[in-house]
Amino acid sequence: MSDDQASGKKLLFVVSGPSGVGKSTLCRHILETVRDIRLSVSYTTRASRPTETDGKEYRFISLEEFEKKKSEHAFAEWAEVHGHLYGTPWSELEQDAHNYTDILLDIDVQGAHQVMGTLKRAVSIFVMPPSLEVLWQRLSGRGTDSLDQQQRRFQKAQEEMKHYPEYQYTIRNVALEQAVWELKAVIMAERVRTAHIDPAHIFR
Ligand code: 5GP
Repeated sequence: MSDDQASGKKLLFVVSGPSGVGKSTLCRHILETVRDIRLSVSYTTRASRPTETDGKEYRFISLEEFEKKKSEHAFAEWAEVHGHLYGTPWSELEQDAHNYTDILLDIDVQGAHQVMGTLKRAVSIFVMPPSLEVLWQRLSGRGTDSLDQQQRRFQKAQEEMKHYPEYQYTIRNVALEQAVWELKAVIMAERVRTAHIDPAHIFR
């Protein structure tokens, strides 16, 4: 535990936004440059991409394994996104009382809605693209998806963007550096909110 976090309570930061908005890049920068925060690693039934490692970005499992976990109530939330299942296991959100590491969840709007309902202390952030035109350029520029997939993701993106008012913060990712800076500012401000300070650690 580092000293600047020693007086805080554990916080959950829920980051949502449409595919292609740069959410994973944003989250990666946060994980690399902010102390005491880790990514919640979800389970998914989608196939891994060449750049991904099982257990790092996701835990890749079969549909049967996912259904089994669902029936065992292993998920804090789960959703079907672009035809695949994704879920946050409770085990990723559990920590012992003396561990002050915050948790970053990169999940879609359906999952975020469930998390905001059950975990009242979750801090929610929506990442918006600079414009629909730029979003389409980013989605269609991805070498990993077919044209049909790109069009479905673009359609879904526009639906998802309508949900931004349900989030506490909205960050427009025009330039990555600025967006990272804004997300860091949210994390830092939430950490020093009086309500988020553990009274047991105030006088020491
Ligand atoms: P991708 O397959 O491109 O990595 O992610 C597709 C979408 O699924 C993204 O919007 C991502 O935030 C979302 N996602 C990733 N993990 C989870 C999860 O555990 N639960 C939910 N609800 N969405 C997730």
